[in-house]
Amino acid sequence: MPSPQAVPALPSRARCVIIGAGYTGLNSALEIARTTGGEGVVVLDSLHIGEGASGRNGGQVIPGLKLDPDTLIERFGVSGGAALIEAVGGAADYTFDLIKRLGIDCDARQCGWLQAAHTEGTLRVLSQRAEQWQRHGADVRMLDRQQTQARLGTSIYHGALLDTRAGQLQPYQYALGLGAAARAQGVTLLEQTRALSMSPDAQGWTLSTSRGDIHAEQIVIATNAYSPALLPGLPQTYVTLWSLQAATVPLPDELAARILPGDLPVSDTFRVLRYFRRSHDGRFVLGTRGAFRDELGAGDARRVRDEMLSLYPELDSVPLSHCWCGRVAVPASTIPFLSQPAKGVTVALGYYGRGVAMATRMGGFVADLVNGLPAAHSAYPVLPFKPFPAAPLHRSAARITANVMRLRDLLERRLRAGAGS
Ligand SMILES: Cc1cc2nc3c(=O)[nH]c(=O)nc-3n(C[C@H](O)[C@H](O)[C@H](O)COP(=O)(O)OP(=O)(O)OC[C@H]3O[C@@H](n4cnc5c(N)ncnc54)[C@H](O)[C@@H]3O)c2cc1C
Repeated sequence: MPSPQAVPALPSRARCVIIGAGYTGLNSALEIARTTGGEGVVVLDSLHIGEGASGRNGGQVIPGLKLDPDTLIERFGVSGGAALIEAVGGAADYTFDLIKRLGIDCDARQCGWLQAAHTEGTLRVLSQRAEQWQRHGADVRMLDRQQTQARLGTSIYHGALLDTRAGQLQPYQYALGLGAAARAQGVTLLEQTRALSMSPDAQGWTLSTSRGDIHAEQIVIATNAYSPALLPGLPQTYVTLWSLQAATVPLPDELAARILPGDLPVSDTFRVLRYFRRSHDGRFVLGTRGAFRDELGAGDARRVRDEMLSLYPELDSVPLSHCWCGRVAVPASTIPFLSQPAKGVTVALGYYGRGVAMATRMGGFVADLVNGLPAAHSAYPVLPFKPFPAAPLHRSAARITANVMRLRDLLERRLRAGAGS
């Protein structure tokens, strides 16, 4: 994904250097620039804007976290939990408002999102989820089997949760739009500039990069699942999973009317879930858990295609045009990880597949801290810097669990197909 922008000269000093030009880093820069100006704010990325997860995700803008509201209250108490629910529940509204305010052209549509249940048991879980969000004033409701089929064009699901706060966008265009807006506000964007190490100095920090040193009052680490060992333990604050996606060529009109007639983004409840939608240019795009590597393997495209055909056999005659994968960070903290491990250093990462809205929203919380808000007053909890104990074991366990979950899904699907025949 080459960027047409020339790389500016490396400044020797900065108020704040943000490492990582994805949604977290770019919106942190925008929020800092909005309140205190863009001068002295630098974003650097070892690659190009959006070349991490932000330019390669499924474009599903989903509010909330993987943890439901009741769990957040159990964990953070009544008032802490309520503040957190408000912060994460409002993340999609925040994202769509930002796109509108900045005039970013990325096919953003707040059209709603469906979470489709593959069993009666998962349908009950979704009903409870909907009911919990309703108690917090959100327009989240259940669709029955017929209503779900009418929107999806497939009868395999038992029903679905409809979250009207959610929607979709073109992820890479969104990242580029944030980058352009940051530049317009005076932020210095340095692509192809890798952060190598950091050490404290008299004024703050010296950051060594592949193009020289920068002295910064503050550093924000927004490298998510691509985090290097800039601080001891940083790559151990999360476990990496890979997500794999493919897109078909644009669907012929006759098929476009039958596949996802509701034109909403969808995720399902399989243990190894599938997420899918129609792109702005009429392609069917589906993602699922990938292999544990950055490069595509020989069977990857075939695997996504099999998932597509299990939903819509009529796609058989439609070829794939693209297949790609990217990294997802599952944080040790179980909620997205905001931390200040040292004076002048803020870390924000770990959105576990909910990062389009939440990484964007996190930019606001990061900017508050960089602008001097004490951690105790942050609207989002600033957590202790705690790596996973025995992180390699967690990585191995993640691999084994992913394989077991995939086998259980396959078995369940075969049994259901057998029962239906
Ligand atoms: C295939 C896929 C599908 C997904 N689908 C969805 C979805 O539909 N909805 C959803 O909500 N979320 C989804 N996600 C998750 C979402 O994309 C991420 O949570 C979000 O983009 C994270 O943004 P970020 O800015 O924190 O990190 P990233 O976008 O990953 O940015 C991190 C950046 O740090 C840079 N970097 C790393 N090391 C260095 C260094 N040493 N020096 C300089 N720069 C460095 C990287 O080059 C990268 O650009 C998906 C993720 C993947 C991979």
